[in-house]
Amino acid sequence: MSMPNPLPAKASIIIVGAGIQGLSLAFNLAELGVRDILVLDAGYWQGGASGRNGTLIRGAFSSPEWTRFFAHSCELWQGLSRRLGENVMYSRRGYTMVGERSATAGLLDRTLAVHKECGIHSHLLTPGRLREVLPALAHERVSAALHLPDSGVAPHHAAMHAYRRACEARGVSIHYRTCVTAIDQSAGRVSGVRVGDQRIASDTLVLAGGAQSNALAQMAGVPLDGYPMRLEAMALEPTRPLIGPAVALLDRLCYMHQTARGEVVGGAEVAERPQHTLNADVPVMAATARAYVEMFPQLGHARILRQWAGLVHISKDFGPLLGAHHALPGLFVSAGWCYGHAGAPAAGELLAKAIVSGQVDERMRPFAVDRFELNRPVVEPGIVLSHFE
Ligand SMILES: Cc1cc2nc3c(=O)[nH]c(=O)nc-3n(C[C@H](O)[C@H](O)[C@H](O)COP(=O)(O)OP(=O)(O)OC[C@H]3O[C@@H](n4cnc5c(N)ncnc54)[C@H](O)[C@@H]3O)c2cc1C
Repeated sequence: MSMPNPLPAKASIIIVGAGIQGLSLAFNLAELGVRDILVLDAGYWQGGASGRNGTLIRGAFSSPEWTRFFAHSCELWQGLSRRLGENVMYSRRGYTMVGERSATAGLLDRTLAVHKECGIHSHLLTPGRLREVLPALAHERVSAALHLPDSGVAPHHAAMHAYRRACEARGVSIHYRTCVTAIDQSAGRVSGVRVGDQRIASDTLVLAGGAQSNALAQMAGVPLDGYPMRLEAMALEPTRPLIGPAVALLDRLCYMHQTARGEVVGGAEVAERPQHTLNADVPVMAATARAYVEMFPQLGHARILRQWAGLVHISKDFGPLLGAHHALPGLFVSAGWCYGHAGAPAAGELLAKAIVSGQVDERMRPFAVDRFELNRPVVEPGIVLSHFE
């Protein structure tokens, strides 16, 4: 039986969490020349939200802040296989935001104006063009649709494997089943972490713990705005190709796409059902099934093949919490990710630069960890998530 690699006594940077955020950051730090990077994960490989998501990559939203950040990430996705030297299977199939209510059509008009201002390639689809892009849609229910041609999907297993291999090839040390149980400080700054009895010294620590981010912040004795939220998805049995682009049904808090195997994968949210377990939930499955069948009636015959849930960390304004933590020198955060698969390439790149050079990129600045204390939330009206706490 092979023995697990022993933990080192010290590291230049410790990242807590080996989900896609932790791995993207580790890769980007290694690319900037940082050595002795240690990534610790309490769970198993792909056990967090990064192995459970819908795999959609949306490159623009309705606010300039989200749009600038996620457009950059989407651009990075398109060259990511080359950069990592591994295939992330990015499929640029487009992403259509569908509105049913007239108020949502108004939102999509305003969204288009934001995209123009940000130099993003998107367009409203005429009814005729929408029929070509999404022929199986219940067109009589649609008031407006906005299409993002550069967005798409990338299977999470491909992206996670690619990041992990690229990290390991650059000497990053990644340990699973290794739970950080305490965070050490000395002289008013981070000095390391504890894994049970073992102490690992480091003056730079990044919390990328997904749903556990608040618990980790508590260990460090610093505040963090946010809470864990459960998201659920399901896959239908394969059907012939019906849905070309990725789709967000904005009025139903629902997203979906059809995989190469023909399965329709996605989820709808039920606002009144906040939960923190990974169990199947019949009302959530029913809401998803209703959204699918009402908007794509030809899916009515397809059975549910499988269901799963995952936990993400949600900030007060749903936006990422990215950057240095103002209350403790040496501490950095990558949390608050509800679109953390899409956002990982940009988050890793921009946070790595901030850690190494101290410079905060303009696309990252709005998502500063202390923005709620400073009363500077970022309002994003175009996400498919509901607000409950
Ligand atoms: C059903 C569902 C659908 C989704 N769909 C999409 C989508 O289509 N597009 C999109 O962009 N995003 C989507 N998301 C969100 C996306 O999956 C997450 O935002 C992203 O995976 C977050 O990555 P992460 O690395 O921050 O967190 P995670 O992948 O959860 O990783 C955090 C890691 O931290 C570890 N950890 C926690 N505490 C400790 C500790 N004390 N010590 C050591 N390790 C610790 C955990 O074990 C975990 O592995 C979806 C999520 C779900 C659940």
